[in-house]
Amino acid sequence: MILKNISILSFSSLSVRRNADVYIRNGRIEKILDTTPHSSVSDSVIDGKGMYVFPGLTNNHSHTAMTLLRGVAEDVTVGDWFNKYVWIYERSLTPRDVYVGTLLGAAEMLLSGVTAVADHYFNMEQAFDAYTLSGMRANLAWAVFGSGEDSREKYSRALDFTKEYLGKSSRITMSLGPHSPYLCSDDFLKEIVKESENLNIPMHIHVSETSGQVQDSLKTRGLSPIQVLQKTGVLRKGTILAHAYWATDEDLKLVKESGAGIAHCAKTYMKFGDVNNLLSRALDAGIPVGFGSDGCASNNTMDIFETARDAAFLAKCADADPEKGKIDDILPLMTNGAVMGLQNYGEIVPGAPADLVCIKPSTPNMFPGNSIFADILYSLNNRNIDTVIVDGKIAVRDGRLATVDVSSLREEAAEISRRLISTVSDGPMQRYNVSRH
Ligand SMILES: [Zn+2]
Repeated sequence: MILKNISILSFSSLSVRRNADVYIRNGRIEKILDTTPHSSVSDSVIDGKGMYVFPGLTNNHSHTAMTLLRGVAEDVTVGDWFNKYVWIYERSLTPRDVYVGTLLGAAEMLLSGVTAVADHYFNMEQAFDAYTLSGMRANLAWAVFGSGEDSREKYSRALDFTKEYLGKSSRITMSLGPHSPYLCSDDFLKEIVKESENLNIPMHIHVSETSGQVQDSLKTRGLSPIQVLQKTGVLRKGTILAHAYWATDEDLKLVKESGAGIAHCAKTYMKFGDVNNLLSRALDAGIPVGFGSDGCASNNTMDIFETARDAAFLAKCADADPEKGKIDDILPLMTNGAVMGLQNYGEIVPGAPADLVCIKPSTPNMFPGNSIFADILYSLNNRNIDTVIVDGKIAVRDGRLATVDVSSLREEAAEISRRLISTVSDGPMQRYNVSRH
């Protein structure tokens, strides 16, 4: 496949290479040449005239099947969000629900330029099938709790899945997914670390989402949640730290030394009214950071362009400083693959994975085009996304999904959602007991 006569963007240097031909072979970028005027046009050539191409966006922390719970827990505190809504509804979740919810989420991500996702959820066999069909790249961590109903049985199911599916697909990789330090004992975390070493796969865990979690951890364990991860061995290279939003500067030193990365989910924090300057401090500390959409029950979309924009605003507001969250800080994070262990991601160079987004800045929101980089961060919408390529194959063309038709799932998703939110039970599947500070 050749992307012909296209403008290539680099988010690390904020530079544009115009009139280029990008050659794609075997899922990778083979070479990049200046456009030759009289070459033949065939089916495998995409005319890139008037379009920009940049690497695919990464979603480093997601609970994709929660698309089914979009809009059901609004304007509430974190505690109520878990205990009165989400952990009650998720009790009734079936494998089929996860399949439908993940396929819808994958469709939404591809249509918004996301080519790779780190998904942390349940019933991951179905998520695997959905990502296979959608053509997306994914890392799957089956979420496990260290306590509660059938926790041992659920953990062994998660492990069986991980072992069985490990290596089955070059596009879909595995991690282990302990939920969080506040729901996993030290011993359980250590057990998971041992398994991750045995299987040679990384971990993906929530940590320090709120200041309350940090305070409670200091009170009950004498350590911050990040220190708990260090003590148990979870904090290491390859681990995805979802949030780490209330990590202290001392914590960030530990994260930096470990080589772990942070998934920053700015829209979720802002929806909970939680303002902090983590992003600027993490970048200053030299920690790999990528964006995450979290689940749709808190974030409402799977759109990383939107998350990036929110992250820029949050960084500015948190320090009351418009020079924070700058375009050249934010744009490279949108395509950062380092947090989820993707090699050679985020730049269009020979040898890099052919995971690409082509945009057409042909709508009024992108006029007059004074700065394509400012326009991408602050003005672009999904109508500008023309083509999305994953692993060298077209997933979106002319703004439409090319891999799978999800229109037939709309009614089923509504039915599932009605069933989930009508769940009557004695209480949530876990209890969020963190106090407010
Ligand atoms: Zn999460």
